[in-house]
Amino acid sequence: MIGAIEAGGTKVVCAVANDLEALAIAPRRRIPTTDPRSTIERVAATLAELTGDESLEAIGVASFGPLLATRGSIAPTTPKIAWRGLNWRTALAEHLGQVPIGLDTDTNAAALAEASLGAGRGEEVVAYVTVGTGIGGGIAVAGRPIHGALHPELGHLRIRRRADDDYAGGCPHHGDCLEGLAAGPAVHARTGASAEDLDPDHPVFDLVAGYLGSLCANLALVLAPNRLILGGGVMGTPGLLDHVRRATAVELAGYLPISGYSLDGPSAIVAPGLGADAGITGAWLLGRRAFEQR
Ligand SMILES: [Zn+2]
Repeated sequence: MIGAIEAGGTKVVCAVANDLEALAIAPRRRIPTTDPRSTIERVAATLAELTGDESLEAIGVASFGPLLATRGSIAPTTPKIAWRGLNWRTALAEHLGQVPIGLDTDTNAAALAEASLGAGRGEEVVAYVTVGTGIGGGIAVAGRPIHGALHPELGHLRIRRRADDDYAGGCPHHGDCLEGLAAGPAVHARTGASAEDLDPDHPVFDLVAGYLGSLCANLALVLAPNRLILGGGVMGTPGLLDHVRRATAVELAGYLPISGYSLDGPSAIVAPGLGADAGITGAWLLGRRAFEQR
């Protein structure tokens, strides 16, 4: 049995399954993210309960970041202060014993899942970006999430702000980085309403689409992802995905000799194939890989 943990800022989702078919129908248990000690205690108890009489052979963790994945810990720069330095490996081992643990960011895990089973299936380079209360992004190349000295942190890219945008930006580190300008809280700060409560034709979405178009154009210039997958709550706004495709094409101005980033033919910029299931599926795949490499 392989356990999967998708740890987000507000909730942790847990599931346990023998294989992907079983995972698709396995129950998801949701635990509120509070302090690390009690959250991990509940996560471990939930995994043990879901595993029942079988034994847990590996665990995959798709965690909010930034993450020092080789050490297994959450970086000291995370805005979630109580979680700074939390080591997933030792914390889980304390409750569940020594089992192989695969760990990556929630968005790298989602990129892995989309590249394995979702909208990026069979593609060489797959980028996954979620636009919600924050903006995060992961990248999978040849079926593996990429790491340099760290994992991708696409949400904090610096992009050119529009001249008529007078909002200062909401990122606590950078002010007007991409997340500061285009995530859900930036929409709320400008309009007084959440993205899902606004008319999809509200002018704020023109700004958001423009900024996300800059992100997609930058990613196209760096990696030319075969699929660039955009998910998250803000992307649920009707028409926004098409708007981002147009903004990307405008930014690139016809420079790239490929069709997925122009307005001709099928777009490389697509919605997630796994919907909200990408994170937990990615966590399970990380667990399976840890099991195979044990
Ligand atoms: Zn930032």
